[in-house]
Amino acid sequence: MASGKLVVLTGPSGVGKGTLVRALLARHPELYLSVSATTRSPREGEVEGIDYYFLSKPAFETMIKQNQLLEWAEYADNYYGTPIAKVEEKIKLGLNVLLEIEVIGATTIKNSFPDALRIFILPPSLEELEHRLRSRKTDSETAILNRLERAKEELKVSEEFDKRIINDDLQVALQELETTIFSD
Ligand code: 5GP
Repeated sequence: MASGKLVVLTGPSGVGKGTLVRALLARHPELYLSVSATTRSPREGEVEGIDYYFLSKPAFETMIKQNQLLEWAEYADNYYGTPIAKVEEKIKLGLNVLLEIEVIGATTIKNSFPDALRIFILPPSLEELEHRLRSRKTDSETAILNRLERAKEELKVSEEFDKRIINDDLQVALQELETTIFSD
């Protein structure tokens, strides 16, 4: 049986990665979305093992030391990382595995998994990104400004990715994403 693909979706906070992933999974339920580990606290409604594996900092650091993560990064004072075991298991079974992760982790995956298809989602403009971050109403003013500053840095490395998709119109971006993932 042929191995599955590892597809990595990244881009700045507020760019619409989550919405794109949900739309993609609704149309392609055979895709396997990797569940990340994080040290941040669960938000209301989030479920252990479905949204994330919620870990203490020492438990996360043990996973790092024991090489149990395909990639990891610090984001907004917390750790986030992709447990390697499930990803390898699904790929061996021939399934395509999707990661939705921030930009530093997506950059380092090139070393740990060179065959990964790495896709960078761009906002139409920084102004529009700011507008989206504000209209989510989930973050404080300081958090929004931090995320925007980080976005400026993140956008600088977008050229290093296999594919760049601008998320202006969701349906157009989704179509482009599907073509990229399923084109060979
Ligand atoms: P949130 O706290 O809003 O759920 O996620 C914050 C950021 O962490 C998002 O950009 C999300 O894509 C990213 N993220 C989630 N899981 C992982 C992971 O396993 N690794 C990395 N590097 N980033 C992740």
